[in-house]
Amino acid sequence: MNKSIIKIYDSFDKSELNIFFDNLIKFVNKYDSEFQKHTSLEYLNSIKKFKSQDFILGHSDDSLELGISFYKKKIEENQDEEATCNQVSSLIWALSAYMTDELCPICSESNLRLTVMKQEENQIVKFCDECLSTIINDNYVKIEGELIPASKKMVESYLEI
Ligand SMILES: [Zn+2]
Repeated sequence: MNKSIIKIYDSFDKSELNIFFDNLIKFVNKYDSEFQKHTSLEYLNSIKKFKSQDFILGHSDDSLELGISFYKKKIEENQDEEATCNQVSSLIWALSAYMTDELCPICSESNLRLTVMKQEENQIVKFCDECLSTIINDNYVKIEGELIPASKKMVESYLEI
C-alpha cells in the first residue's frame, strides 16, 4: 500500500492535478478494504465515485507540494495503514473541497470551503477546516453525518460563474 502511494506522490505535477486526483481515487478503490477500517463509510463511498472533471481542483491556500513531500516523509518513516488512509482522504478533501475567499467568521483561522451533505444534494454548506463550523445561508447549523466537497456544477452556480 505504501509503495503504491509513494509512486503516486512522486508523479505529482501541479499542472496536471486531474491526473493526480484520479490516481488518488483509483488508489482508494484498490485499497477499499483497508480504507473501510479507518475512514467514515459515508465519506468513503462518496469519494470512491469521484472523478476529476466533476470538481474544481486545487482551489485553496494549501501548499500541495509541501504537503505531499511531508506526507511522503511520513510514509518513509513507516507510518501505519490508518495514517496512510487518513492522509489520502484528507488530500482528496484538500484538492476537491473548493475554498472561498470568505474567512471563517468564528475562528478567523481559515477560509470557508464549499461542501454538501450528499452528492446529489443542492444545498451548499460552508465549512471551516479549523473550527469545523458549518454554515448554511449565513446561519450556523449543526450537521449530522459527513460533508463532502461540492461539485464543480454546485460551486459554479453558488459563485454565479
Ligand atoms: Zn473556523
